[in-house]
Amino acid sequence: MNIVHFPHPTLRHRSRPIRRVDAELRRIIDEMFDLMYAANGIGLAANQVDLPLRLFVCNHAAKKGEGEELVFLNPVVSRPKGSCEREEGCLSLPGIYAPVIRPEQIRLQAYTPQGEEVDVELDGLMARVVQHEVDHLDGIMFTDRLSATHEINVKPMIDEFQLAFDSGRRSGEIPSEEEIETRLKNLEERYC
Ligand code: ZN
Repeated sequence: MNIVHFPHPTLRHRSRPIRRVDAELRRIIDEMFDLMYAANGIGLAANQVDLPLRLFVCNHAAKKGEGEELVFLNPVVSRPKGSCEREEGCLSLPGIYAPVIRPEQIRLQAYTPQGEEVDVELDGLMARVVQHEVDHLDGIMFTDRLSATHEINVKPMIDEFQLAFDSGRRSGEIPSEEEIETRLKNLEERYC
């Protein structure tokens, strides 16, 4: 398992709700935490590891053994309140940072892998992380939410990612569109 970079097609996939949790999925979640810590991230969505599953992991401490490891399945964000601008980055676009305007406060409803219901009001960094990760599950990148000026600033770096992707496609390192689609469909049949 690896973190895929923009513009990998799975990052544009709208993930469907998970209906079953098995030992393999629990192993995937552990590996997602490992990948997130290795990249010094505070959140990682399944789409970013090439999986069409409606789940993400996060830990605001970005370090194993510190902070709190949280896993949210089938998250739903509602009751947005206020608005604030804060710089964001993304493990699928490493090195790119730009300010994004998002609601300051939200309600998060989700499930844990153990099937417990989560229903919390969030603000600050956690509200930010949750909105960024839920966007991933809908195929949305934070760079889709930039103002025109910030978009122009990051464009040259985004173009570099596109070039790297194109060359990965040519060398066969990145599978074809059809191969990726078939893989995602099989995984959806197993979990969704
Ligand atoms: Zn991201």
